Amino acid sequence: MSDKKVISAPAMLGMLGGGQLGRFFVIAAHELGYKVTVLDPDKNSPAGQIADVHLCANYDDETALAQMAATCAAISTEFENVPAETLSFLAQHTVVHPSAEAVSIAQYRVKEKGFFRDSGLPVGPFVAVQKAEDLPQDGDMYPAVLKVARFGYDGKGQARVANYTEALAAFDNFKQEVCVLEKMLELDCELSVVLARDAQGNIAAFPTAENKHLNGILDISIVPARVSEVLKAKAQELAKQLATKLNYVGILGVEMFVVDGKLLLNEIAPRPHNSGHYTIDACITNQFEQQVRIITGLPLGSAHQHSAAVMVNILGDSWFHGEKNSVLEPAWNKALQHGALKLHLYGKQEPRKARKMGHFTALGDNVDEVLNQALVARSELHIGE
Ligand code: ADP
Ligand code: MG
Repeated sequence: MSDKKVISAPAMLGMLGGGQLGRFFVIAAHELGYKVTVLDPDKNSPAGQIADVHLCANYDDETALAQMAATCAAISTEFENVPAETLSFLAQHTVVHPSAEAVSIAQYRVKEKGFFRDSGLPVGPFVAVQKAEDLPQDGDMYPAVLKVARFGYDGKGQARVANYTEALAAFDNFKQEVCVLEKMLELDCELSVVLARDAQGNIAAFPTAENKHLNGILDISIVPARVSEVLKAKAQELAKQLATKLNYVGILGVEMFVVDGKLLLNEIAPRPHNSGHYTIDACITNQFEQQVRIITGLPLGSAHQHSAAVMVNILGDSWFHGEKNSVLEPAWNKALQHGALKLHLYGKQEPRKARKMGHFTALGDNVDEVLNQALVARSELHIGE
């Protein structure tokens, strides 16, 4: 459907997915006077809890989708694995961003990496593995990471393999699901750029973040990234180029590796990104407000960062203590003694190890000092104990 005209509040917007990204979208939409319908099969989902309407159904449930199509003036997604057919169906009836096509590329690693390569964008060595014979025997590709092509996230569905034999075993272990084998790279660091691109092609890119991962899960984002101005600018340029080549409309998270001082694309997320959470507290317009603005046809807001920021993810691990794994709420009061620290908890009912339960962002003028403060605050929560 055409989306030239502005959709004014208090229209009903739709969100596919009810996780924390959806929850922040609901908050941003409410701030701008909109109502939100969330579709998520979990009755306690973080976004569903605060939505005006929560459709507790699967992402291909025809009745729920028909209701969204009939009642939502514009729809977006926070869940990368929403079926492409769901987006195409909804797009026949209402405004939907991002497109089914863009999402289908981002959710399938084979297409995603192929898109980078075919577009002439920098990407590390990889091979698509549809069947065991596709696994390279060539020693140059090892050590490597074997990643399932669909439904992997937070390091899940990945195996590090030293050689061909291990790769074969890992492929079997993944039940011979389609995979991508990537050469293991020696990373100088990891960067990401989250950007907003509207239907007219205007882009507002948020400042480049430096990301540290632990066990394949984002642990900390540091912004501004502690790399050269030139590299930060190149990262911005690469993300914009990619979004334009994809003809992308919506919020795009672009993950990059830095290897020998050069950028390589890792993966893209067709939705707000965990490494963009710092924008909630450190930028004039945050990534979720931009998502609302894009689907409603409002002008993009300023992506200007007014404070140095360090975002720390809080995983369910922080609830578990001692050998007995007794469950205790982290000491929020201690972290909150730091005046320039903003805590966000997602309302998840049950802490589980490796589950993202919340995050905090430490703010200030100097990124090195902010990083120190963030690490002190984290140690006081007993995170990672
Ligand atoms: P996910 O979808 O789980 O985020 P990623 O492909 O981004 O999967 O991998 C998670 C993390 O694992 C990356 O951020 C990086 O730290 C590490 N990693 C992934 N692929 C490689 C690689 N080819 N070489 C080195 N490290 C990698
Ligand atoms: Mg990733």
